[in-house]
Amino acid sequence: MEFKQTFDVIVVGGGHAGTEACLAAARMGCRTLLLTHSVDTLGQMSCNPAIGGIGKSHLVKEVDALGGAMGRATDRAGIQFRILNSRKGPAVRATRAQADRVLYRNAIREILEAQDNLSIFQQPVDDLLIENGVVAGAITQMGVIFRAPRVVLTTGTFLGGKLHIGLENSSGGRAGDPPSIALADRLRELPFRVERLKTGTPPRIDARSVNFAGLEEQWGDEPLPVMSFIGDVSEHPEQRCCWITHTNERTHEIIRAGLDRSPLFSGVIEGVGPRYCPSVEDKIHRFADKNSHQVFIEPEGLSTPELYPNGISTSLPFDVQIDLVHSIVGFENAHITRPGYAIEYDFFDPRDLQYSLETKALPGLYFAGQINGTTGYEEAAAQGLLAGMNAALAVRGEEPWCPRRDEAYIGVLVDDLITIGTIEPYRMFTSRAEHRLLLREDNADLRLTPQGREFGLVCDTRWQRFEQKREAMERESQRLATTWVHPGSAEEQQLAAKLSSPLTREYSLADLIKRPELDYTDVASIKGEPTADTQAAEQVSIQAKYAGYIDRQKDEVARLRRYENTALPADLDYDQVDGLSNEVKQTLGEARPETLARAGRIPGVTPAAVSLLLIYLKKRG
Ligand code: FAD
Repeated sequence: MEFKQTFDVIVVGGGHAGTEACLAAARMGCRTLLLTHSVDTLGQMSCNPAIGGIGKSHLVKEVDALGGAMGRATDRAGIQFRILNSRKGPAVRATRAQADRVLYRNAIREILEAQDNLSIFQQPVDDLLIENGVVAGAITQMGVIFRAPRVVLTTGTFLGGKLHIGLENSSGGRAGDPPSIALADRLRELPFRVERLKTGTPPRIDARSVNFAGLEEQWGDEPLPVMSFIGDVSEHPEQRCCWITHTNERTHEIIRAGLDRSPLFSGVIEGVGPRYCPSVEDKIHRFADKNSHQVFIEPEGLSTPELYPNGISTSLPFDVQIDLVHSIVGFENAHITRPGYAIEYDFFDPRDLQYSLETKALPGLYFAGQINGTTGYEEAAAQGLLAGMNAALAVRGEEPWCPRRDEAYIGVLVDDLITIGTIEPYRMFTSRAEHRLLLREDNADLRLTPQGREFGLVCDTRWQRFEQKREAMERESQRLATTWVHPGSAEEQQLAAKLSSPLTREYSLADLIKRPELDYTDVASIKGEPTADTQAAEQVSIQAKYAGYIDRQKDEVARLRRYENTALPADLDYDQVDGLSNEVKQTLGEARPETLARAGRIPGVTPAAVSLLLIYLKKRG
């Protein structure tokens, strides 16, 4: 049966990528349909109940700056907030929130159901409608045909999903959810490169069976941080404590003794797992010299005693899981509420995508999230937002958009994926961004909100708040630059205890902030009234303190921008480029990067090879 109403954009999958994708398309005025297995699992966190962290909060804040839902939902669901790396420089500071799973899902559902232009329909999608070589819609399990010229697939770990506990395995998209088999089979018929990856999750534990005496407590930060630029601490629910315990030699012995029944080590699992989130059996195998690993005990929510023991993800047989859990201090009598497991699933080589996340082989079809080989809610949300907005731009007949690497972590993520691809689940780190002093989580709104507003992604409330902040920043910067402190003055006396040497000339407040021994909080109120806008104050403070470094990075970006704009012809014959090694010629011939900058980011393509390409292009004219 063909559904009467047609849509501009169809999004398949209501996880972290899918929800941001459909919200973005709908915010941009497209008639949007979200097709998903279950309305009750919209925004479901498949694994750890936490949002943000190093590199990841940068993505959340960028999604938020572009009007997305993840930051707002986190503020409503977060039961513990911390700023990681708070003593380090602002580039690597990261907000992390422990989230109540149910509150998070509810918040996402509320945002979706309040969105104009968005319809939701609960049905698995089994097939794509393809007409004349382009996508034309999606076909559900009960045979309903939904039409739209743009379809975004965000099916996560569900394609051909296989769950492993010990040597037993079963089909599933994640525990408790069915896999997508028909759609996976259909996609394998299309000209996409497909591979398998795997990921895993720990057993969950009933808090009532845990002995917390002697476990290290970990509370959130005070004052309480927020995740969204328009978030407020008054939205946060009750805050909770986490704890820390450790594995020990006994735990490791139990794991080693069970390895012969591990799907990972017996070769039953073929997919590659996440390097930075390894299973506990992987950890004791790879770091054999370590006799202990940390386990963070995190509450799953306010309304449940279930705990998430972060650090003991495992797919060992259940009897081994019980023994390994019981060997850990505090867990001696712990009751496991859900066993840990690993999941293997299909993902598609992201090098087959354009930077808009539209597939190269099938016009109109976009991939976003774990389907592209990434891991993590935040990475998925960022891609979802981008795919949804690019689908909407295409519907409007406009050019696609993706921020550059020096503009956003979203740009770094997409550029890494489509240029280099991935052979293991890809997660974001601040170290992946070469211009990280420019890409701080605190300035994501300044970098992206104006652009988001132009596209129609940013609502009036957020825009007004943004403009107020920008004005407050301007006023405060102006005040700092034009307020002077004279040697021997009463203001200098106020700073005397902190100053490393007496002032020898007059200083503006902005110059004083640049001195290593002083910061904004020391000088802002010694003369005049500082801004009451805390976000504006933070910005002005960072900009003043790091002005020299920031300017240097901007110069570097300007220099590299030349390469970013230097196109490499699609038909370039790399065999003709003098001096390139055969290996580099082959790599470039296969990857066919669109720009010189992109060529330089391909592993194995050295700066010397980039210079040779530049010389060749100049000669070629
Ligand atoms: P998902 O969140 O998986 O959402 C996919 C959505 O698509 C679901 O709503 C599903 O119902 C729907 N769907 C699928 N197929 C169809 C279809 N045919 N028709 C309609 N709807 C469909 N990440 C980490 O960062 N660290 C970890 O340690 C970690 N461990 C994990 C462990 C497990 C067991 C699992 C399952 C995931 C783990 N993840 C981990 C990954 C994290 O959950 C994902 O990265 C993230 O959820 C991906 O978001 P997504 O939107 O791409 O897909």
